[in-house]
Amino acid sequence: MTSTLAGLADTAAALDAADPLRDYRCRFLRHDDPGIVAYLDGNSLGRPLAASAQRLAAFVTDEWAGRLIRGWDESWYELPLTIGDRLGEVVLGAAAGQTTIGDSTTVLLYKLACGALNLRPGCTEIVLDRENFPTDRYLIESIAADRGLTLRWIDVELAGGVTTDDLAAVVSERTALVVLSHVAYRSGYLIDVPAAVDVIHDAGALLLLDLCHSAGSVEVDLDGWGVDFAAGCTYKYLNGGPGSPAFAYVAARHLDEFRQPIWGWMGRHNPFEMEQGYVPAKGIRRVISGTPAIIGMLPIQDSIDLIAETGMPAIREKSVALTEFAVQSVDAVLNGRGVVVSSPRDPERRGGHITIDHPDFKAVTAALWAQGVIPDFRRPDGIRLGLSPLSTSFAEVLAGVSAVAAQLGD
Ligand SMILES: *Cc1c(COP(=O)(O)O)cnc(C)c1O
Repeated sequence: MTSTLAGLADTAAALDAADPLRDYRCRFLRHDDPGIVAYLDGNSLGRPLAASAQRLAAFVTDEWAGRLIRGWDESWYELPLTIGDRLGEVVLGAAAGQTTIGDSTTVLLYKLACGALNLRPGCTEIVLDRENFPTDRYLIESIAADRGLTLRWIDVELAGGVTTDDLAAVVSERTALVVLSHVAYRSGYLIDVPAAVDVIHDAGALLLLDLCHSAGSVEVDLDGWGVDFAAGCTYKYLNGGPGSPAFAYVAARHLDEFRQPIWGWMGRHNPFEMEQGYVPAKGIRRVISGTPAIIGMLPIQDSIDLIAETGMPAIREKSVALTEFAVQSVDAVLNGRGVVVSSPRDPERRGGHITIDHPDFKAVTAALWAQGVIPDFRRPDGIRLGLSPLSTSFAEVLAGVSAVAAQLGD
Protein backbone atom coordinates (compact mmCIF):
# COMPACT_ATOMS: atom_id res chain seq x y z
CA MET A 1 0.00 0.00 0.00
CA THR A 2 2.78 2.46 0.89
CA SER A 3 4.62 1.59 -2.32
CA THR A 4 1.41 1.90 -4.30
CA LEU A 5 0.79 5.34 -2.82
CA ALA A 6 4.37 6.43 -3.51
CA GLY A 7 4.00 5.34 -7.13
CA LEU A 8 0.71 7.21 -7.47
CA ALA A 9 2.25 10.30 -5.87
CA ASP A 10 4.96 10.26 -8.56
CA THR A 11 2.29 9.91 -11.24
CA ALA A 12 0.28 12.80 -9.76
CA ALA A 13 3.38 15.00 -9.62
CA ALA A 14 4.22 14.19 -13.24
CA LEU A 15 0.65 14.86 -14.39
CA ASP A 16 0.55 18.18 -12.52
CA ALA A 17 3.92 19.22 -13.96
CA ALA A 18 2.78 18.44 -17.50
CA ASP A 19 -0.70 19.98 -17.09
CA PRO A 20 -1.08 22.94 -19.47
CA LEU A 21 -3.85 24.36 -17.23
CA ARG A 22 -1.94 24.10 -13.93
CA ASP A 23 -1.39 27.84 -13.51
CA TYR A 24 -5.10 28.60 -13.65
CA ARG A 25 -5.44 27.17 -10.15
CA CYS A 26 -3.66 30.24 -8.80
CA ARG A 27 -6.46 32.51 -10.04
CA PHE A 28 -8.80 31.05 -7.43
CA LEU A 29 -8.96 32.66 -4.00
CA ARG A 30 -7.26 30.72 -1.19
CA HIS A 31 -6.08 28.04 -3.63
CA ASP A 32 -3.11 27.43 -1.30
CA ASP A 33 -5.08 27.55 1.97
CA PRO A 34 -3.47 24.80 4.09
CA GLY A 35 -6.84 24.14 5.75
CA ILE A 36 -8.29 22.99 2.42
CA VAL A 37 -6.35 19.81 1.75
CA ALA A 38 -8.39 18.61 -1.21
CA TYR A 39 -11.47 20.33 -2.61
CA LEU A 40 -13.37 17.65 -4.49
CA ASP A 41 -16.75 19.30 -4.68
CA GLY A 42 -16.27 21.97 -7.33
CA ASN A 43 -19.20 20.32 -9.13
CA SER A 44 -21.51 21.35 -6.28
CA LEU A 45 -20.02 24.75 -5.52
CA GLY A 46 -17.11 26.06 -7.57
CA ARG A 47 -14.31 27.98 -5.88
CA PRO A 48 -14.36 31.77 -6.26
CA LEU A 49 -12.00 33.54 -8.65
CA ALA A 50 -9.94 36.43 -7.28
CA ALA A 51 -11.25 38.49 -10.21
CA SER A 52 -14.81 37.99 -8.92
CA ALA A 53 -14.00 39.46 -5.51
CA GLN A 54 -12.68 42.57 -7.25
CA ARG A 55 -15.58 42.72 -9.68
CA LEU A 56 -18.17 42.51 -6.90
CA ALA A 57 -16.48 45.19 -4.76
CA ALA A 58 -16.08 47.51 -7.75
CA PHE A 59 -19.71 46.99 -8.74
CA VAL A 60 -21.04 48.06 -5.35
CA THR A 61 -18.85 51.15 -5.22
CA ASP A 62 -18.87 52.32 -8.82
CA GLU A 63 -22.02 51.03 -10.50
CA TRP A 64 -24.52 50.60 -7.69
CA ALA A 65 -23.47 53.57 -5.53
CA GLY A 66 -22.32 55.70 -8.45
CA ARG A 67 -24.94 55.09 -11.14
CA LEU A 68 -27.90 54.23 -8.90
CA ILE A 69 -31.14 53.66 -10.83
CA ARG A 70 -29.49 54.85 -14.05
CA GLY A 71 -27.57 51.55 -14.05
CA TRP A 72 -30.66 49.76 -15.39
CA ASP A 73 -30.71 51.87 -18.56
CA GLU A 74 -26.95 51.82 -18.93
CA SER A 75 -26.30 48.07 -18.75
CA TRP A 76 -28.20 46.04 -16.14
CA TYR A 77 -31.36 45.59 -18.19
CA GLU A 78 -29.34 43.95 -20.96
CA LEU A 79 -26.95 42.04 -18.69
CA PRO A 80 -28.87 38.71 -18.52
CA LEU A 81 -28.81 38.57 -22.33
CA THR A 82 -25.26 39.93 -22.67
CA ILE A 83 -23.85 37.31 -20.31
CA GLY A 84 -26.15 34.69 -21.83
CA ASP A 85 -24.77 35.34 -25.32
CA ARG A 86 -21.20 35.12 -24.09
CA LEU A 87 -21.91 31.90 -22.16
CA GLY A 88 -23.56 30.54 -25.29
CA GLU A 89 -20.54 31.37 -27.41
CA VAL A 90 -17.81 30.16 -25.05
CA VAL A 91 -19.43 27.23 -23.22
CA LEU A 92 -22.72 26.10 -24.77
CA GLY A 93 -22.20 26.12 -28.52
CA ALA A 94 -25.16 28.48 -28.85
CA ALA A 95 -25.30 31.40 -31.27
CA ALA A 96 -26.38 34.78 -29.88
CA GLY A 97 -30.00 35.47 -28.97
CA GLN A 98 -30.90 32.08 -27.49
CA THR A 99 -29.50 32.18 -23.92
CA THR A 100 -30.44 34.24 -20.87
CA ILE A 101 -29.40 34.27 -17.21
CA GLY A 102 -31.88 34.31 -14.32
CA ASP A 103 -33.94 32.47 -11.72
CA SER A 104 -32.73 29.08 -10.45
CA THR A 105 -32.30 25.98 -12.58
CA THR A 106 -35.46 24.59 -10.98
CA VAL A 107 -37.56 27.57 -12.00
CA LEU A 108 -36.07 27.73 -15.49
CA LEU A 109 -36.61 24.01 -16.08
CA TYR A 110 -40.22 24.53 -15.05
CA LYS A 111 -40.69 27.43 -17.45
CA LEU A 112 -38.96 25.63 -20.31
CA ALA A 113 -40.84 22.37 -19.76
CA CYS A 114 -44.20 24.17 -19.74
CA GLY A 115 -43.20 26.21 -22.79
CA ALA A 116 -42.16 23.02 -24.60
CA LEU A 117 -45.43 21.26 -23.74
CA ASN A 118 -47.36 24.24 -25.08
CA LEU A 119 -45.73 23.48 -28.45
CA ARG A 120 -47.02 19.87 -28.46
CA PRO A 121 -50.68 20.23 -27.44
CA GLY A 122 -51.87 16.85 -28.77
CA CYS A 123 -49.22 14.74 -27.05
CA THR A 124 -49.86 13.18 -23.65
CA GLU A 125 -46.54 11.81 -22.35
CA ILE A 126 -43.30 13.07 -20.81
CA VAL A 127 -40.25 10.80 -20.70
CA LEU A 128 -37.72 11.02 -17.84
CA ASP A 129 -35.48 8.73 -15.79
CA ARG A 130 -35.43 7.60 -12.16
CA GLU A 131 -31.83 8.71 -11.60
CA ASN A 132 -32.31 12.27 -12.78
CA PHE A 133 -31.70 14.98 -10.18
CA PRO A 134 -34.60 15.23 -7.70
CA THR A 135 -35.68 18.73 -8.71
CA ASP A 136 -36.05 17.64 -12.35
CA ARG A 137 -38.21 14.67 -11.32
CA TYR A 138 -40.36 16.63 -8.88
CA LEU A 139 -41.15 19.54 -11.14
CA ILE A 140 -42.03 17.25 -14.04
CA GLU A 141 -44.32 15.32 -11.66
CA SER A 142 -45.97 18.62 -10.74
CA ILE A 143 -46.45 19.64 -14.37
CA ALA A 144 -47.83 16.22 -15.32
CA ALA A 145 -50.29 16.36 -12.41
CA ASP A 146 -51.48 19.85 -13.38
CA ARG A 147 -51.91 19.00 -17.04
CA GLY A 148 -53.13 15.42 -16.73
CA LEU A 149 -50.12 14.03 -18.61
CA THR A 150 -48.56 10.57 -18.25
CA LEU A 151 -44.97 10.09 -17.09
CA ARG A 152 -42.94 7.41 -18.84
CA TRP A 153 -40.08 6.52 -16.46
CA ILE A 154 -36.81 4.99 -17.62
CA ASP A 155 -35.06 2.86 -14.98
CA VAL A 156 -31.29 3.11 -15.09
CA GLU A 157 -28.50 1.41 -13.17
CA LEU A 158 -26.79 3.33 -10.39
CA ALA A 159 -23.49 3.37 -12.28
CA GLY A 160 -25.04 4.13 -15.66
CA GLY A 161 -27.42 6.48 -17.39
CA VAL A 162 -29.97 6.80 -20.17
CA THR A 163 -28.90 5.12 -23.42
CA THR A 164 -30.23 5.63 -26.91
CA ASP A 165 -31.85 2.18 -26.70
CA ASP A 166 -33.61 3.15 -23.47
CA LEU A 167 -35.05 6.16 -25.24
CA ALA A 168 -36.04 4.27 -28.37
CA ALA A 169 -38.04 1.86 -26.18
CA VAL A 170 -40.28 4.54 -24.62
CA VAL A 171 -40.43 7.50 -27.00
CA SER A 172 -43.45 7.42 -29.33
CA GLU A 173 -45.83 9.68 -31.20
CA ARG A 174 -47.53 10.29 -27.83
CA THR A 175 -44.34 11.83 -26.40
CA ALA A 176 -44.40 15.60 -26.05
CA LEU A 177 -41.14 16.08 -24.17
CA VAL A 178 -38.06 14.18 -22.99
CA VAL A 179 -36.16 15.57 -19.97
CA LEU A 180 -32.57 14.42 -19.53
CA SER A 181 -29.45 15.46 -17.66
CA HIS A 182 -26.47 15.68 -19.98
CA VAL A 183 -24.22 14.38 -17.18
CA ALA A 184 -25.95 12.33 -14.46
CA TYR A 185 -25.48 14.01 -11.08
CA ARG A 186 -24.59 10.79 -9.27
CA SER A 187 -22.91 8.38 -11.69
CA GLY A 188 -21.44 11.02 -13.99
CA TYR A 189 -22.85 9.14 -17.02
CA LEU A 190 -22.55 11.32 -20.12
CA ILE A 191 -25.46 11.05 -22.53
CA ASP A 192 -24.86 10.79 -26.27
CA VAL A 193 -26.91 13.88 -27.07
CA PRO A 194 -26.87 13.82 -30.90
CA ALA A 195 -28.09 10.18 -30.88
CA ALA A 196 -30.77 11.06 -28.30
CA VAL A 197 -31.92 14.02 -30.40
CA ASP A 198 -32.31 11.73 -33.43
CA VAL A 199 -34.62 9.36 -31.54
CA ILE A 200 -36.60 12.18 -29.94
CA HIS A 201 -37.05 14.26 -33.09
CA ASP A 202 -37.90 11.21 -35.21
CA ALA A 203 -40.91 10.75 -32.93
CA GLY A 204 -41.81 14.44 -33.22
CA ALA A 205 -40.97 15.10 -29.56
CA LEU A 206 -38.83 17.82 -27.95
CA LEU A 207 -35.72 17.59 -25.74
CA LEU A 208 -35.13 19.61 -22.57
CA LEU A 209 -31.52 19.09 -21.48
CA ASP A 210 -30.23 19.81 -17.97
CA LEU A 211 -26.62 20.99 -18.23
CA CYS A 212 -25.89 21.52 -14.51
CA HIS A 213 -23.09 18.96 -14.40
CA SER A 214 -21.70 19.56 -17.85
CA ALA A 215 -21.52 23.32 -18.43
CA GLY A 216 -17.87 24.24 -17.89
CA SER A 217 -16.50 20.69 -17.77
CA VAL A 218 -17.78 18.90 -20.88
CA GLU A 219 -17.96 20.25 -24.41
CA VAL A 220 -21.49 21.27 -25.34
CA ASP A 221 -22.81 22.10 -28.83
CA LEU A 222 -26.48 22.94 -28.38
CA ASP A 223 -26.97 24.42 -31.87
CA GLY A 224 -24.96 21.71 -33.60
CA TRP A 225 -26.74 18.91 -31.78
CA GLY A 226 -30.20 20.33 -32.47
CA VAL A 227 -31.21 20.54 -28.80
CA ASP A 228 -34.57 22.28 -28.31
CA PHE A 229 -34.29 23.63 -24.75
CA ALA A 230 -31.61 23.58 -22.06
CA ALA A 231 -30.97 24.98 -18.60
CA GLY A 232 -28.24 24.69 -16.02
CA CYS A 233 -26.52 26.04 -12.94
CA THR A 234 -23.77 28.63 -12.83
CA TYR A 235 -22.57 27.90 -9.28
CA LYS A 236 -21.01 24.52 -10.12
CA TYR A 237 -18.27 24.41 -12.79
CA LEU A 238 -18.97 28.07 -13.65
CA ASN A 239 -18.00 29.37 -10.18
CA GLY A 240 -20.85 31.90 -9.91
CA GLY A 241 -21.15 31.58 -6.12
CA PRO A 242 -23.83 30.06 -3.86
CA GLY A 243 -27.23 30.44 -5.49
CA SER A 244 -25.99 32.37 -8.52
CA PRO A 245 -28.72 32.57 -11.17
CA ALA A 246 -29.06 29.82 -13.78
CA PHE A 247 -29.08 29.94 -17.57
CA ALA A 248 -31.76 29.00 -20.08
CA TYR A 249 -31.45 28.21 -23.78
CA VAL A 250 -34.32 28.17 -26.26
CA ALA A 251 -33.39 27.18 -29.83
CA ALA A 252 -34.03 30.07 -32.22
CA ARG A 253 -36.51 28.01 -34.26
CA HIS A 254 -38.86 27.80 -31.24
CA LEU A 255 -38.58 31.37 -29.95
CA ASP A 256 -41.50 32.98 -31.80
CA GLU A 257 -43.99 30.35 -30.61
CA PHE A 258 -42.48 29.81 -27.15
CA ARG A 259 -44.76 30.78 -24.21
CA GLN A 260 -43.67 30.20 -20.62
CA PRO A 261 -46.20 30.31 -17.77
CA ILE A 262 -44.79 33.02 -15.46
CA TRP A 263 -45.90 36.20 -17.16
CA GLY A 264 -43.95 38.95 -15.44
CA TRP A 265 -43.43 42.53 -16.44
CA MET A 266 -39.70 42.08 -17.20
CA GLY A 267 -40.47 39.51 -19.87
CA ARG A 268 -43.07 41.70 -21.52
CA HIS A 269 -42.70 43.62 -24.72
CA ASN A 270 -41.90 47.23 -23.69
CA PRO A 271 -42.04 46.62 -19.90
CA PHE A 272 -41.74 50.25 -18.93
CA GLU A 273 -44.92 51.15 -20.80
CA MET A 274 -46.73 49.42 -17.87
CA GLU A 275 -49.52 48.50 -20.31
CA GLN A 276 -52.63 46.34 -19.76
CA GLY A 277 -52.25 42.74 -20.84
CA TYR A 278 -49.17 40.60 -21.33
CA VAL A 279 -47.43 40.48 -24.69
CA PRO A 280 -44.22 38.43 -24.63
CA ALA A 281 -41.01 40.25 -25.45
CA LYS A 282 -39.33 39.34 -28.72
CA GLY A 283 -36.68 36.64 -28.56
CA ILE A 284 -35.09 35.03 -25.52
CA ARG A 285 -36.12 37.91 -23.21
CA ARG A 286 -39.56 36.28 -22.99
CA VAL A 287 -38.04 33.66 -20.66
CA ILE A 288 -37.50 36.39 -18.03
CA SER A 289 -40.26 37.04 -15.48
CA GLY A 290 -39.25 39.52 -12.76
CA THR A 291 -36.29 41.79 -12.03
CA PRO A 292 -33.08 39.84 -12.71
CA ALA A 293 -30.52 39.20 -9.93
CA ILE A 294 -27.79 41.45 -11.28
CA ILE A 295 -25.29 41.14 -8.42
CA GLY A 296 -25.67 37.37 -8.43
CA MET A 297 -24.74 37.06 -12.08
CA LEU A 298 -21.59 39.20 -12.00
CA PRO A 299 -19.00 36.50 -11.11
CA ILE A 300 -20.02 34.18 -13.97
CA GLN A 301 -18.34 36.66 -16.30
CA ASP A 302 -14.93 35.94 -14.75
CA SER A 303 -15.36 32.21 -15.27
CA ILE A 304 -16.45 32.70 -18.87
CA ASP A 305 -13.37 34.89 -19.46
CA LEU A 306 -11.14 32.20 -18.00
CA ILE A 307 -12.76 29.46 -20.08
CA ALA A 308 -12.44 31.65 -23.20
CA GLU A 309 -8.68 31.90 -22.60
CA THR A 310 -8.15 28.16 -22.67
CA GLY A 311 -11.18 26.88 -24.61
CA MET A 312 -13.52 24.01 -23.73
CA PRO A 313 -11.53 21.28 -25.56
CA ALA A 314 -8.51 21.79 -23.28
CA ILE A 315 -10.79 21.83 -20.23
CA ARG A 316 -12.47 18.58 -21.24
CA GLU A 317 -9.06 17.01 -21.88
CA LYS A 318 -7.93 17.87 -18.34
CA SER A 319 -11.27 16.73 -16.94
CA VAL A 320 -10.88 13.31 -18.57
CA ALA A 321 -7.30 13.05 -17.29
CA LEU A 322 -8.51 13.89 -13.76
CA THR A 323 -11.29 11.31 -13.73
CA GLU A 324 -8.99 8.69 -15.31
CA PHE A 325 -6.44 9.31 -12.56
CA ALA A 326 -9.18 9.16 -9.91
CA VAL A 327 -10.37 5.77 -11.21
CA GLN A 328 -6.78 4.52 -11.37
CA SER A 329 -6.12 5.65 -7.78
CA VAL A 330 -9.35 4.11 -6.48
CA ASP A 331 -8.57 0.82 -8.22
CA ALA A 332 -5.04 0.80 -6.79
CA VAL A 333 -5.73 1.93 -3.23
CA LEU A 334 -9.36 1.11 -2.40
CA ASN A 335 -9.91 -2.11 -4.29
CA GLY A 336 -10.22 -5.08 -1.95
CA ARG A 337 -11.77 -2.85 0.71
CA GLY A 338 -15.28 -3.21 -0.58
CA VAL A 339 -15.23 0.06 -2.53
CA VAL A 340 -16.86 0.02 -5.96
CA VAL A 341 -16.70 2.60 -8.73
CA SER A 342 -20.33 3.54 -9.54
CA SER A 343 -19.46 5.54 -12.64
CA PRO A 344 -18.79 4.64 -16.27
CA ARG A 345 -15.23 3.40 -16.83
CA ASP A 346 -15.28 4.59 -20.43
CA PRO A 347 -14.21 8.27 -20.36
CA GLU A 348 -16.27 8.91 -23.50
CA ARG A 349 -19.42 8.19 -21.46
CA ARG A 350 -18.29 10.01 -18.31
CA GLY A 351 -18.50 13.66 -17.25
CA GLY A 352 -16.29 15.49 -14.76
CA HIS A 353 -16.90 13.47 -11.60
CA ILE A 354 -16.94 9.89 -10.34
CA THR A 355 -18.85 8.28 -7.49
CA ILE A 356 -17.50 5.46 -5.35
CA ASP A 357 -19.66 3.40 -3.00
CA HIS A 358 -19.04 1.73 0.37
CA PRO A 359 -21.45 1.14 3.28
CA ASP A 360 -19.32 3.29 5.66
CA PHE A 361 -19.11 6.34 3.44
CA LYS A 362 -21.56 8.53 5.34
CA ALA A 363 -19.35 8.49 8.44
CA VAL A 364 -16.19 8.61 6.33
CA THR A 365 -17.36 11.79 4.57
CA ALA A 366 -17.96 13.53 7.90
CA ALA A 367 -14.45 12.59 9.06
CA LEU A 368 -12.95 13.80 5.77
CA TRP A 369 -14.67 17.20 5.98
CA ALA A 370 -13.20 17.66 9.46
CA GLN A 371 -9.72 17.20 7.94
CA GLY A 372 -10.26 19.62 5.05
CA VAL A 373 -10.77 16.86 2.48
CA ILE A 374 -14.06 17.87 0.91
CA PRO A 375 -15.96 15.52 -1.41
CA ASP A 376 -19.75 15.12 -1.45
CA PHE A 377 -21.84 12.37 0.09
CA ARG A 378 -24.58 11.01 -2.14
CA ARG A 379 -27.08 8.54 -0.82
CA PRO A 380 -27.37 5.65 -0.29
CA ASP A 381 -23.62 5.35 0.38
CA GLY A 382 -21.62 7.18 -2.26
CA ILE A 383 -18.71 9.56 -2.10
CA ARG A 384 -18.73 11.78 -5.14
CA LEU A 385 -15.36 13.11 -6.26
CA GLY A 386 -16.01 16.26 -8.28
CA LEU A 387 -12.96 17.36 -10.22
CA SER A 388 -13.11 20.91 -11.46
CA PRO A 389 -10.63 21.13 -14.35
CA LEU A 390 -9.51 24.71 -13.75
CA SER A 391 -9.05 24.47 -9.99
CA THR A 392 -8.30 20.82 -9.12
CA SER A 393 -4.81 19.31 -9.17
CA PHE A 394 -3.89 15.66 -9.62
CA ALA A 395 -2.19 15.79 -6.21
CA GLU A 396 -5.53 16.82 -4.69
CA VAL A 397 -7.24 13.82 -6.27
CA LEU A 398 -4.70 11.50 -4.70
CA ALA A 399 -4.92 13.27 -1.33
CA GLY A 400 -8.66 12.64 -1.39
CA VAL A 401 -8.41 8.96 -2.31
CA SER A 402 -5.63 8.38 0.29
CA ALA A 403 -7.71 10.06 2.97
CA VAL A 404 -10.62 7.72 2.17
CA ALA A 405 -8.23 4.76 2.44
CA ALA A 406 -6.93 5.99 5.80
CA GLN A 407 -10.48 6.29 7.13
CA LEU A 408 -11.38 2.77 6.03
CA GLY A 409 -8.35 1.45 7.89
CA ASP A 410 -6.52 -1.74 7.05
C1 LIG B 1 -27.42 21.04 -9.02
C2 LIG B 1 -28.52 20.58 -9.93
C3 LIG B 1 -29.74 21.25 -9.95
C4 LIG B 1 -30.01 22.34 -8.97
O1 LIG B 1 -31.09 23.15 -9.26
P1 LIG B 1 -31.29 24.48 -8.38
O2 LIG B 1 -32.55 25.03 -8.85
O3 LIG B 1 -30.09 25.34 -8.61
O4 LIG B 1 -31.32 24.07 -6.94
C5 LIG B 1 -30.68 20.84 -10.89
N1 LIG B 1 -30.43 19.81 -11.74
C6 LIG B 1 -29.25 19.13 -11.70
C7 LIG B 1 -29.00 18.01 -12.65
C8 LIG B 1 -28.27 19.50 -10.79
O5 LIG B 1 -27.12 18.84 -10.75
